[in-house]
Amino acid sequence: MAEKKYVYFFGAGKAEGNAEMKNLLGGKGANLAEMSNLGIPVPPGFTITTDVCTAFYENNKNYPAGLENQVNQALAEVEKIMGMKFGDPANPLLVSVRSGARRSMPGMMETVLNIGLTEKTIQGLISKTKNERFVYDAYRRLITMYSDVVMEKAVGIEPAEGHGIRELLEHELEAMKKKRGITYDTELTTEDLKELVKIYKAKIKEVLGKEFPDDPIAQLWGGVGAVFQSWNGKRAVSYRRIEGIPDEWGTAVNVQTMVFGNMGDTSATGVAFTRNPATGENVFYGEWLSNAQGEDVVAGTRTPNPINEIGKTEDTAKLMSLETAMPKLYQQLHDIRDKLELHYRDMQDIEFTIQEGRLWMLQTRVGKRNGPAAVKMAVDMCEEGLISKEEAVMRVAPSQLDELLHPMVDPEAEKKAKELAKGLPAGPGGAFGQVVFTADDAETWAKAGKKVILVRNETSPEDVHGMHAAQAILTAKGGMTSHAALVARGWGKCCIVGCSALQINLKAKEIHVNGQVLKEGDLITLNGTKGRVYLGQLPLAQPDLEHNEAYLKLMEFANEIRKIGVRTNADRPADAAKARSFGAEGIGLCRTEHMFFDPERIMAIRQMIVAENETDRRKAVMKLLPYQRDDFKGILKAMAGLPVTIRLLDPPLHEFVNLDEKQLKELAKELGVPENKLAVRIAGLHELNPMLGHRGCRLGIAYPEITEMQVRAIFEATAELTQEGVEVHPEVMIPLTGHVNEYKHQEAITRKVAAKVMQEKGVKFDFLVGTMIEIPRACVTADEIGAVAEFFSFGTNDLTQTTFGFSRDDIGGFLPYYLAHNILPADPFQTLDQTGVGKLVEMGVQKGRSVRPDLKIGICGEHGGDPESVKFCHRVGMNYVSCSPFRVPIAILAAAHAAVEDKLAGK
Ligand code: PEP
Ligand code: MG
Repeated sequence: MAEKKYVYFFGAGKAEGNAEMKNLLGGKGANLAEMSNLGIPVPPGFTITTDVCTAFYENNKNYPAGLENQVNQALAEVEKIMGMKFGDPANPLLVSVRSGARRSMPGMMETVLNIGLTEKTIQGLISKTKNERFVYDAYRRLITMYSDVVMEKAVGIEPAEGHGIRELLEHELEAMKKKRGITYDTELTTEDLKELVKIYKAKIKEVLGKEFPDDPIAQLWGGVGAVFQSWNGKRAVSYRRIEGIPDEWGTAVNVQTMVFGNMGDTSATGVAFTRNPATGENVFYGEWLSNAQGEDVVAGTRTPNPINEIGKTEDTAKLMSLETAMPKLYQQLHDIRDKLELHYRDMQDIEFTIQEGRLWMLQTRVGKRNGPAAVKMAVDMCEEGLISKEEAVMRVAPSQLDELLHPMVDPEAEKKAKELAKGLPAGPGGAFGQVVFTADDAETWAKAGKKVILVRNETSPEDVHGMHAAQAILTAKGGMTSHAALVARGWGKCCIVGCSALQINLKAKEIHVNGQVLKEGDLITLNGTKGRVYLGQLPLAQPDLEHNEAYLKLMEFANEIRKIGVRTNADRPADAAKARSFGAEGIGLCRTEHMFFDPERIMAIRQMIVAENETDRRKAVMKLLPYQRDDFKGILKAMAGLPVTIRLLDPPLHEFVNLDEKQLKELAKELGVPENKLAVRIAGLHELNPMLGHRGCRLGIAYPEITEMQVRAIFEATAELTQEGVEVHPEVMIPLTGHVNEYKHQEAITRKVAAKVMQEKGVKFDFLVGTMIEIPRACVTADEIGAVAEFFSFGTNDLTQTTFGFSRDDIGGFLPYYLAHNILPADPFQTLDQTGVGKLVEMGVQKGRSVRPDLKIGICGEHGGDPESVKFCHRVGMNYVSCSPFRVPIAILAAAHAAVEDKLAGK
């Protein structure tokens, strides 16, 4: 049997892999191969596959047989192309070792650069480069990275905060600078660096008890092993949990020829996006540093220069752009940018290095972007003819629209607010919160229900949990491609970086900023779109979607493509109008009980509840009629021309008689009954399981006058509006039907009242009567119910509750544990349990349509706004989903995704 291929070569205009092979080669490896195939200059190297990572973990951290041999062969190929040899004292090849998973996990795993530098090879490199200082600088960087990544992290040493080997070595570096009276690393002389290397090595021996290895092969395998180990490092694991990346995927390892951006003034390094990742604008956007290594840009320790003139801002106006400093190389880079966009037909995030006047591409990948940018790029690229409408729609994740719906700092309030400082606008939107200084504090405070802003000098992947918990992130250092900026953008979180006026004193938990002192817990507001920080809490205003042309266009595409309708759950005319402006095509659920809590009405409803006979009850109920009629008129009018599903009273009655002493007194007085008698009556309504008690249609059956009043209000509103010339389409919905007879009972009342109102008002109108399907028995007998009901609306909140037997109200007691221990993959009240609850839904749809093929079917549980659940509803053939107003655009986009996915699957 042929040996399995574990190692894939790339370089010199050819490669064994390509962009399609992400699962095996990881994103970085696959794209390095692709760039190589495209003839783009890539330093030669090879990728060790993700299969090796899986085998490594399955095999007690041993490599599969044959790997070493394949690595040696690929290395020989690289050596041949470069005309150098790994470990050769005269002409040494140096390599980098980097991770690369299927999906990018920025900064979550390890990298080691300059591998192959030893006491022997140093000499060869010095005589080749004639730059002793550069070589010793590279060596001390290798020692720092290697000791941290390979000798400490990979072996599982967990030093106390601030005591990691990297920090201890940095400490030595600072001490050396202090001793020499200098500020910048670049001021260190060759002799300083030589001494530093000695100090580093001694420190490593002292702290870690081992020598830094002076053997290139040991360094190489040490680096490879450390990258594989880092797949299961703490921060990678926590990132995978947040992003839903499976553990089994594993990472690939890329071993690649080192090119240096720090070989003097003709060398440079940078990162760029083929379009602006924060706004989506079609302009080349990036940052660079001359005479620097890639890590200097990404680490955010030096604020980088803009790559071109167009990318300059007020704050960077004076910095030299690459376009001006190295115009020819900038043009070459720009051409590569064009080539990559045309080839990948998507915005790319690229890394490059210029070594002594020669440009090398180190990476390309699909760039992360925030929601507004995703929408703009998708629509622009479609209009540029790069992608189809379907592709444009698929380029935006439905949840990304949340960011366009995000609050922004109110501009009027902002004008008057006290500006504390300016930074770079890394993540748009507005946010306010209390200042915290550590990721752990951010998490703890957020868990306690506080809104926090995480303020750091710079963030590192160790901070992701706190960044996730915070409302926004603010850093004193770093550029638009710093860790904080990348991570926040990925999540669509408000973020400001490079806010250099902040002087953060972590120990004292204080920030000194422009003469002001901020302490932990102080409130600040960020405008992430402009990069402004304000003292105190500013009001946040809703975004202006109406004037966002790209968004409107995307919605137009989605509306053209989608098959399933989108309605909204709304109880008030204003909400209905909002939803309509977002594109809702009707109301799928109007919960009438929400209308009962106004002070004038609640008294009537309480009188109704505690009434002891039908006459009293009817009298109290009828007091509600004019209110309800007005409610329905308002909502029907707001949705004129569109269907409005109005659900009859649903919740347990005792929810309305949760009275304190004063309220009890008032009610007793109003009713003219003694307080103690009233208290006994209310106590009699107490239920052990109210969610499974006297609620839903059970109320209207026991107290038909409630149903009579409600349907009369609906039909009187309908009749009046019809007479006014307003087109209305009411749909009366019976809640919580479990047996067809329950439905029939309520339907009879409804139709009788409708006929009466038509006669009284002398007007004819259309209406539908249908039911919620939210009890398993209703799904199982949906053919019986479908024979009489004109529409079904799946109430998946109750259906989830009753199918799982989980109380909706009490799930908090055990759900977090279930999720943490993978007993359930997700909260079934948020995203539909397709394999369980979904089966009942499917059965309900099939049985209902078996007796009434044109049965109108929708969903109005919370799942109607959850993208995956929307897709499910599309697949089972529902006519519409219904969700809260602010989720309407998300549902529309998810519905379009479902239609495109069908098409792609050939359905
Ligand atoms: C449902 O049960 O899914 C539903 C929409 O009704 P409610 O949440 O009001 O019970
Ligand atoms: Mg319900």
